[in-house]
Amino acid sequence: MTYYNDKTILFLNGEFVKAAEARIDLYSQSLHYGYSVFEGIRSYKTAGGQTRIFKATEHFDRLRQSAEALNMPYHWTNEELISATYEVLKRNDLQDAYIRPVVFAPANMSFARNQESFITIEVWEMQPFLGEKLLRVMTSSFQRPNPKAFKIHAKATGHYVNSILASQEAKGKGFDEALLLDINGYVAEGPGANVFYEKNGKLFTPATGNILPGITRTTVLEIAEELGIPVEEKLFTPGELKEADAVFYCGTAAEVIGWESLDDVQFPKPWKDSLSKTIQEAYKHKVAGKEYKPSLELA
Ligand code: PMP
Repeated sequence: MTYYNDKTILFLNGEFVKAAEARIDLYSQSLHYGYSVFEGIRSYKTAGGQTRIFKATEHFDRLRQSAEALNMPYHWTNEELISATYEVLKRNDLQDAYIRPVVFAPANMSFARNQESFITIEVWEMQPFLGEKLLRVMTSSFQRPNPKAFKIHAKATGHYVNSILASQEAKGKGFDEALLLDINGYVAEGPGANVFYEKNGKLFTPATGNILPGITRTTVLEIAEELGIPVEEKLFTPGELKEADAVFYCGTAAEVIGWESLDDVQFPKPWKDSLSKTIQEAYKHKVAGKEYKPSLELA
């Protein structure tokens, strides 16, 4: 995967610079200790042909909240960062893009607070993160981090060591992706996505507390409400998940993607007949600013 070429422009501390020429401090506390915060955002070409960053305010609000959770100085406004992001998209001639802001620390080998933070906003073209085929998922031997050890609701880079280990383990065993449990053995989330399951015409998703409360998760809750599909947020075990009619992961990068199986236990409902598929279609329409009329008869 190539993220940039000689012409690519990124935003770095108020300036638009060539990615190939941008420099950061190799003595940064972020590089040495995994101490930075970031966002994963997407922009879409809308029905009217314009470029629109989906839920830009929600993402930049979360970036600020993540920085605050980690005691990182944050002096930017949403307005300036959103406008900088549109400018980066324009300068790279991208409409359907993945957008990655990162707030990082200066040179500091101590564990003390910093007086300043830096920011970069990078954009590239990216297909759905988990592909477009139904996923074969494996229950990970790695748990999600203890929420008493980390600010688990923050999108901090260090948390992703856990995600990388879980995902690499699953792929190493021939699966497409991992499912991580929380410290009490309840289903938490994927390495980079939230999980929903469907059972008897209703959707279920883990309650917050041990997960990153995803912006796509909220969008799915909104779509379910709009379509009159009941949803319950609750703790459940992998055993309950294996009894589901259908299951999907959702996240900004992955969008909405169905599962074929968990630990080789197949889900019985054909994807095309599932409410989950309806959610997937509605999501695709929503992000592109298109009206959606479900083809399925909804109860
Ligand atoms: N959980 C984790 C661990 C993630 O990395 C992500 C991706 N940001 C999500 C859930 C989904 O969050 P969102 O819908 O805001 O992208």
